[in-house]
Amino acid sequence: METILFLAHTEADGSLAKPALEALGAARELAAGLAGAALAVGLTGGDVAPAARQIAGCGATRFLGVAGPDFAVSRYATDAAAAEAIVRTAAATIVLAPASTRWSRALPGVAQRIAGRIDTHVTALAVANGQPVVNRWYYRQRMEGTLTRAGRPWFLLLESGVARAWAGTPGTVAIEPVTVVLSADHRRTTVTGVKAPPADEQTIRPDARLLLVAGAGWTKKQADGQIHAAEAEQLILEFLRRTQASLGSTKSLVDLAGEGQAVLRCLSHLNQVGQTGSTPRHPKGLATCCHGEEPHAVGWRFINERRAVNLNPACSWAQGKADVLYVADAFAVLRRVNELLAARGDGSQAGG
Ligand SMILES: Cc1cc2nc3c(=O)[nH]c(=O)nc-3n(C[C@H](O)[C@H](O)[C@H](O)COP(=O)(O)OP(=O)(O)OC[C@H]3O[C@@H](n4cnc5c(N)ncnc54)[C@H](O)[C@@H]3O)c2cc1C
Repeated sequence: METILFLAHTEADGSLAKPALEALGAARELAAGLAGAALAVGLTGGDVAPAARQIAGCGATRFLGVAGPDFAVSRYATDAAAAEAIVRTAAATIVLAPASTRWSRALPGVAQRIAGRIDTHVTALAVANGQPVVNRWYYRQRMEGTLTRAGRPWFLLLESGVARAWAGTPGTVAIEPVTVVLSADHRRTTVTGVKAPPADEQTIRPDARLLLVAGAGWTKKQADGQIHAAEAEQLILEFLRRTQASLGSTKSLVDLAGEGQAVLRCLSHLNQVGQTGSTPRHPKGLATCCHGEEPHAVGWRFINERRAVNLNPACSWAQGKADVLYVADAFAVLRRVNELLAARGDGSQAGG
């Protein structure tokens, strides 16, 4: 009989973020599909009470918690110690956690410590022949694998956006405190703060309905023989401001910075989409000034509706990789779209 542990760390305000609620939704479905399986919740953070109240009605039989200032911060030593203690106390056979930066860093080590197994980047969960079965992608998202394992405990890090987030009314629940004895070694790393761009400069928005991808064409010589990188950046940022779309980039465009060429300052390697970049999951995507070759298409495989703007009618998007290709000047297109959005005068999300 499986004991499924939903393992989550809280946010700064003590609540659970959406990816954690998605993992909880998946854990509940898995427990419902496996005969006799029990569901337990394990929480860690500065204060886990708000999170426990948030998910009190999820149907778990146990709520285990490791709380305190030492566990408020993302730090490998304390995160791993908390997770290990919770997994052992719960006697979990399957541990399901969101693939947050924090867990992606700490849980592989925990699995090793307790002679378990771990699969990261899990994109789907199911039950077949009474066994849990997971899906994940290999070789830069080119091959999909379906696998099950006999080894326990089995840790699963679930990608965000692949499961329906659990939603229920908050309630009250008793938390079983789990004690973790920390030594000076656990506290050897001191977290002094978080460096993040201001909210209005944050262009990566996983929840946006539209992904705008910028390619190197934005920084290439245009019909007048000149480069218009400053205007490109202004057009793109205005579009993002008005639509709250997320911004992706091709590899070539973010690599230009290292080559001393004209660049869009709003981009970093974190924006890169593709075979060697991220694989976003927005419902719609609009590629501009990038030619749509294979690494792009691989990165776009989870975008439901793909459109592209390119001057070249023979670009790779035209070879069946986009649903719609607009053969047009992206500067002119974005200028006009921004005018229309300004005339509409609202800040609602694009893609409708
Ligand atoms: C193993 C491997 C992995 C890779 N991984 C990735 C990856 O993860 N992500 C990635 O992006 N790339 C990846 N690449 C690189 C990729 O193959 C391409 O070389 C690169 O992405 C091309 O970038 P681009 O389309 O922005 O630029 P370009 O190839 O320079 O294309 C620019 C396009 O802009 C168009 N254009 C110019 N001006 C305008 C205008 N005014 N209006 C409209 N269109 C205009 C041009 O017609 C042209 O098609 C990888 C390559 C390899 C070999």
